[in-house]
Amino acid sequence: MLVDSHCHLNFPDFKDDLPAVLRRAQLNGIGTLLTINTRLSEFQDIHAIAEAHSHIYCTAGVHPHDAQDYASPELAQQLKDLAQFPKVVGLGETGLDYYYNNSPSAEQIDSFETHLAVGGELDLPIVVHTRNADEDTLAAMDKYPNAKGVFHCFSGGREMAKAGLDRGYLISFSGIITFKKAEELRDVVKYVPLDKILVETDAPFLAPIPHRGKRNEPAFTLHTAEIVAELKGVPLKEVAEQTTNNFFNLFKKASRPI
Ligand SMILES: [Zn+2]
Ligand SMILES: [Zn+2]
Repeated sequence: MLVDSHCHLNFPDFKDDLPAVLRRAQLNGIGTLLTINTRLSEFQDIHAIAEAHSHIYCTAGVHPHDAQDYASPELAQQLKDLAQFPKVVGLGETGLDYYYNNSPSAEQIDSFETHLAVGGELDLPIVVHTRNADEDTLAAMDKYPNAKGVFHCFSGGREMAKAGLDRGYLISFSGIITFKKAEELRDVVKYVPLDKILVETDAPFLAPIPHRGKRNEPAFTLHTAEIVAELKGVPLKEVAEQTTNNFFNLFKKASRPI
């Protein structure tokens, strides 16, 4: 079994055929899915999906793109309230995105720190999105050493991966590692120990080869796991078992399907 540790099942891309998408995931051995919140206004939608399926969990959080829409004192309380739902197993996705800078950096930092503070307090893992913001991401994490989590859709360098590992965070790889030009990132996959790796799709974005350019979906987690296995020189089964263990060790509120 594999876990898609990061997808967005409430996005309009899946509006017409979510049941078929979930069936294909099951057929490809994706036994657990984590659907990720990006705006609190969409929480109800993703939570409803998680509530309707025993093998789907969700997070609560605000994407760095949307940080400016949620002020921090209220945000902390909102996150704490939403974290009470049994199906909410983590916070995020949060972090810093200085590539797009859709929200001013000060507000991104404020929002990220709020997630880290609440996650540390409630012992809930943080799903971190970081792009062109290595230094500030680590500085925020260092202010909240109790918080733990995962660098999702990792596309950084080896040094950033090491910095995350040193702080007890896991590294999640997406379909990007299947892309032809991702040679450097594949070196990072070789570097990160298998017991620190998660796999994800970030669906509907970033479909892996051989589906590149099309809509991504959780079933394609398999392609990413296959590349991890190839790079590590181990059977796919081992990657599946280890990354699944890693997921449930981090997201402790989630339970394995029986
Ligand atoms: Zn992201
Ligand atoms: Zn995402």
